[in-house]
Amino acid sequence: MEIRVEQPCPQCGGAVTLSAADRLLSCPYCRVKNFLLTGGGPFRYALPNKAKDQARLIYAPYLRFKGNIFSVSETGVSHRIVDTTHEGCGLPSLPASLGLRPQAMSLSRVSSETKGRFLPLAIEPRKIFEKATKLHNLIEGSNGGEVYHHAFIGETVSFIYLPLLAREDGLFDAVLGQPLMTSSGAMGGQPFQPHWQMKFLAALCPRCGGNLDGEGDCVVATCANCDSAWQIGAEGLERTACKILPVSKDQAEPAMHLPFWKIQVKLHSLQISTFADFVERTNQPLAVRPEWRRMAMQFWIPAFKLRPEIFLRTGRQITVSQRQFGPERDMRMKAAVRPHPVTLPLSEARQSIKVMLAFAAANGRAVYAKLPGAEPEVLAASLVFLPFSDRQHDWVQSHSGVSVNKSILQFGRNL
Ligand SMILES: [Zn+2]
Ligand SMILES: [Zn+2]
Repeated sequence: MEIRVEQPCPQCGGAVTLSAADRLLSCPYCRVKNFLLTGGGPFRYALPNKAKDQARLIYAPYLRFKGNIFSVSETGVSHRIVDTTHEGCGLPSLPASLGLRPQAMSLSRVSSETKGRFLPLAIEPRKIFEKATKLHNLIEGSNGGEVYHHAFIGETVSFIYLPLLAREDGLFDAVLGQPLMTSSGAMGGQPFQPHWQMKFLAALCPRCGGNLDGEGDCVVATCANCDSAWQIGAEGLERTACKILPVSKDQAEPAMHLPFWKIQVKLHSLQISTFADFVERTNQPLAVRPEWRRMAMQFWIPAFKLRPEIFLRTGRQITVSQRQFGPERDMRMKAAVRPHPVTLPLSEARQSIKVMLAFAAANGRAVYAKLPGAEPEVLAASLVFLPFSDRQHDWVQSHSGVSVNKSILQFGRNL
């Protein structure tokens, strides 16, 4: 579900409405761009209210989880899209979830200017997550089979507060004005905590001071002036290695470039450190060539959001196709044709490695059972833009022929 947030521009105060997924605010009035930094914790929003005395409001926390859950069991890799809210303070009479309310109205961000008191979480977020997503069903497996691994990818966790009003005649929902309890008693809670405050950071290149480019939902911004790329972290910007794969003379000029996280790993318990090891352990229908014994194993994970089954399929196909790629070049922003925004951070891509390995395995069970002890050792990671040509409804990767449907790619922006 699309959640909209009212976010005044920090420069000119203009009223801007963002998507909750946005990390970059481009002000349509003053044209200044700012990154939104969490400072470490989740973003915190509240449903709008019309209470006359804001200081009397009590905010009840709901946790919102959005992402894809993948699990690997004896029967294979399964996945589920999760987008849900769940009550977190344990107050009786509150609805278990906010339902459709967060997408029916624009949310406001809670900040140091928000008056009122905030109720604490009664149980830890992990437990709320398991309850909200019915993860136990997944862990037990749909048909009772053992689950070897599960991962929550493309994960967003945020707080959405439901404002309540404690009056003499009871406790009221301050959004709808409906009574929840006939007596409100002592509610407690704490005021807004300074470390919850979201911070802004001007979208300027830390290296050369030039303006950074990026779309609202990007997690990596680029500088066309000095050809650098920057990941947007909780505390600030971090440089990331960025490469581009050139096309050869006999290949058509690319019509667009899609970003992938190229992650070099060693999987000790599975004895995978080269591409040849990967082909053998996962029983790929390929005859191992001698040079593959010298190629380090790299997982190629889409650096953009896709529906889970397409995410798995594209990652597997590109990972298996790495044998056809030549050397990469340092990224020149001008060389990238319609570069697709990076919307999946490296941290999430790393978490998907074991799922991708399981999905790529043609000899399923032999690999699945080894996943619990198979923590990948990450040796290097970089962002690589791969060239794609335009073929009717698909984008087709120039070296491997791997295709991505155009409308599925567009749909991924809303995931
Ligand atoms: Zn502005
Ligand atoms: Zn720069």
